[in-house]
Amino acid sequence: MGVGRGLKINEYGVFKGGKRIGGRTEAEVYRRVGLRYIEPELREDRGEIEAARTGRLPRLVTLADIRGELHAHTTDSDGKNTLAEMAEAARARGYEYLAVTDHSKHVTVANGLDEKRLARQIGAIDRLNARLKGFRVLRSCEVDILEDGRLDLDDAVLAELDFTICSVHYRLDLPASRQTERILRAMDNPRFTILGHPTGRLIGRRGPSQVDMERLMRAARERGCYMEINAQPERLDLSDLHVKMAKGIGLKVAVGTDAHSTRNLDFMRLGIDQARRGWLAAADVLNARPWRELETLFRRR
Ligand SMILES: [Zn+2]
Ligand SMILES: [Zn+2]
Repeated sequence: MGVGRGLKINEYGVFKGGKRIGGRTEAEVYRRVGLRYIEPELREDRGEIEAARTGRLPRLVTLADIRGELHAHTTDSDGKNTLAEMAEAARARGYEYLAVTDHSKHVTVANGLDEKRLARQIGAIDRLNARLKGFRVLRSCEVDILEDGRLDLDDAVLAELDFTICSVHYRLDLPASRQTERILRAMDNPRFTILGHPTGRLIGRRGPSQVDMERLMRAARERGCYMEINAQPERLDLSDLHVKMAKGIGLKVAVGTDAHSTRNLDFMRLGIDQARRGWLAAADVLNARPWRELETLFRRR
């Protein structure tokens, strides 16, 4: 684009004839060549220059847009802090809500909750909410997706929750067709809201499970389900490319830290970076919205 304007661009700046007309700052370089500033996260040769030229660059989501946490554990399963401590820590970060998403019973190593213990936790959340002003603890659960696609808890208790995160925690090695069917089947359950850490990858330790991601995303959109960007540094799952795929499909995404302690809530920054690499604006991120909007979005069509 510079060449068309008779400009020369190199590592020293932007030149017209022999004269340097820009290069002190990146913003100046973009201005001189007639492009909107492209955020560093977008500089991957994935259509960002074309988007800048045609005014279709997204205004990327920032940490300041985030209104709440949608994925957090407590001492009721494998978290290190209590329900009240997690709520207080979320509030101290300026959030309006925190969802408690402890594990369900299939995850015995994480002391997963059965129907009875989840019902008891719901009671504790209701009592805590009665004391809190201007902050809300959401009743939720990280429900295991069983190998045959059923959810790990009875529908009756799931119906008491504000929403669910549903995750695959075992048999991540199924062939693509079976893994995809397993998740599609789970999404058929009207209690399914968000697919947690969608590929199960652990960076440097375990590759992503084999799924037809585009099919899952289209199905999620049709059914009124969503996907998570899990912000744990070893997960960052969805990947940047999958985040961009979700954006293209028009599927909204939750950025969740999967916090197992109050300090882990700070992983949000990593999740936001991942969202930005996938071109997401605040409007694409579920927890950039107040609860009253989420409540409507979480109602299944
Ligand atoms: Zn999980
Ligand atoms: Zn979790």
